Order: sequence, then structure tokens, then C-alpha cells
Amino acid sequence: MPNKSIRILVLGGTEEARLLASRLDGDDRYAPVTSLAGVTQDPEPIDGETRSGGFGGAAGLEDFIKSEAVELVIDAAHPFAATISANAVKASERAGVACLRLERPPWGKGAGDNWTPVPDVEQAVRAIPEGARAFVTVGRQEIALFFARGDIHVIARMIEPPVELPPADAEVILARPPFTLAQERNLMAEKKISVLVTKNAGSAATRPKVDAARELGLPVIMVSRPGKPTVPTAQTVEGVIDLVERSIA
Ligand code: NAP
Repeated sequence: MPNKSIRILVLGGTEEARLLASRLDGDDRYAPVTSLAGVTQDPEPIDGETRSGGFGGAAGLEDFIKSEAVELVIDAAHPFAATISANAVKASERAGVACLRLERPPWGKGAGDNWTPVPDVEQAVRAIPEGARAFVTVGRQEIALFFARGDIHVIARMIEPPVELPPADAEVILARPPFTLAQERNLMAEKKISVLVTKNAGSAATRPKVDAARELGLPVIMVSRPGKPTVPTAQTVEGVIDLVERSIA
């Protein structure tokens, strides 16, 4: 049993990060501090120490690691949060501490799925056919790109309102996951959706929309995940705990 707790920086913003913080905080060997970007107004409570707001790039994150005596970084940010993941790797290397990643697996395409994979949100905007009634669930940060297409009808769902006011003919649904298959099927039928646009987030809480699209025979424009620098990665909280235990052994 070590005589002091290991200070671990958890880069949060996901449900898995919250569960990981709880698991680490409940173990005397670890002293987690979870960092949030500060973009969500009412985040779910997190066990253990927390902090909020950007670090000021990789250099700021390196300073934080050193000044807070962080001994291990676990990047548990969203699969589409590419900047913080790249900064985590750079800053950890420079500060001389290990960096691990917790990242849930992407959704796989099954029989009956009609997916058009696209590399980024800009390509997703272009891939929507003229006249479509598009159900867009890419989050509020990039939604303005879809609103700018004057030749489609956008039904956008997000947790918090978009920064910019949507155009008069667009619809914004504010709702927090999880959603059931029945809810998703009903919503898509009621709104006469002709195409679903989503990021391949991989969360079980948001997967039902993809299943509903398949059941309704609707095409899906699926934004693929951005590339991230390679570090030891686990897909589950228990998996990353194993990596932590191996890295301190
Ligand atoms: P991003 O592009 O990777 O990061 C943008 C900037 O936000 C970073 O450079 C950093 O600022 C700050 N930041 C991001 N995550 C942070 C964290 N955990 N702690 C402190 N600062 C953080 O990220 P994003 O796509 O804007 O996402 C922002 C947050 O929302 C992340 O926590 C992410 O996990 C979560 N999220 C993102 C998505 C998505 O689709 N992108 C979806 C759900 C949740 P500095 O450079 O100043 O340090």
C-alpha cells in the first residue's frame, strides 16, 4: 500500500469520465482531479476534486500538471474533442508523466444500416440532399453550418440552446440523453425525417436514434471520429483502471 495518494488528472466531459472519477475517488490510493471545459451550464455532479475552464493550450496544461503535482493524466474527453486529447499527450510528454486514454468504441454498422460515412461535419453538411428533412444531432457548437443551408429543413437536437439564433424554418429540440428506441422512432416519424446526421459518438445512451433510422429505412450521414495521438487506451472504466494499476506497479 503506497503511503500517499497518486494525483491523477482526469480530462472530463463524458459520462465515462464521471464514472472513472467516482471509481478513483473511492480508492485511497488515488486522488483524482477532474477537469471540465466549462462549456456545459449545469454539469452532472462529479466525485472528488474538480476544476473548470481551458488550461490555455498544451503549455498551460503542462504548467497545471507541474504546479498541481499531477502524476498521471487520463484523457476521458469526448471522442470528438480532438484538441484537448492532442494537448494532453503533448503536455504529459513535456511534464514527464504518463498519459492514458479512456474512449468508448464507435458504433458498428450492422445489417440493414444505410450509412454514408463522412470525415467531418463540413462534409456532412454537403452530403445532405436538397429538400431533405434532416434530423441533426451533432451538438450545438457546429450546428450553424447546417442552418446556413437554405435548401434543407433542419430539425436539430441538442442539450443546450445554440449560440446563434436558428433561422425561422429550422426546429430546435432541447433534450438530454438517454433516449429510447420508441421515443426516437416516434420523433423521426412525427417530424417526417428523411435523413439522420450524427457523429459516431459510440454512446449507448444515444445509439437508439441509429437503430430507429434503420427500422424506418432512413439513410444516416455518419461523421467519423477525428484521429488522436496514440497512447495506451481502454474502452471501459474497468479497463483504464487496469492500465492505471499496471502503470503504477
Ligand atoms: P476540444 O475541441 O478538444 O477542445 C477545445 C478547448 O476546450 C481545448 O483546447 C481546451 O482549452 C478546452 N477543453 C476541452 N476539454 C477540456 C477539459 N476537459 N478540461 C479543460 N479544458 C478543456 O473540445 P470540444 O470538442 O470543444 O469539447 C469541449 C468539451 O465538451 C470537452 O470536455 C468534451 O469532452 C465535451 N464534449 C464534446 C463533444 C463534441 O462533440 N466535441 C460532445 C460532448 C462533450 P485550452 O486549450 O484553453 O486548454
